[in-house]
Amino acid sequence: MAHVIAAPCVADYSCAEICPVNCISPRTSDEDFDGAEQLYINPDVCIDCGACVEVCPVLAIFEVGCLPEKWRHYARVNREYFRATEA
Ligand code: SF4
Ligand code: SF4
Repeated sequence: MAHVIAAPCVADYSCAEICPVNCISPRTSDEDFDGAEQLYINPDVCIDCGACVEVCPVLAIFEVGCLPEKWRHYARVNREYFRATEA
């Protein structure tokens, strides 16, 4: 299980700044920092602490099992972001 960032994300980096395991990307030091339309959570690293949910100003973060139907595919979108960047 993991948390997932969905469509409403406005990339304000609030969640990335407080995540205790640094599993939210891109980071401000990453190459694609300027082009980020949203952030993504690495499901292999997330420890499901829920801290990011509380700081998100637009309610864009959900536990994967609680994703609204219309945003279910964001679990795959988040995972594939890290597959692409690690390839
Ligand atoms: S639930 Fe916790 S570990 Fe997972 S992304 Fe959010 S802050 Fe990071
Ligand atoms: S706190 Fe919410 S809006 Fe801000 S970067 Fe994280 S998911 Fe996106």
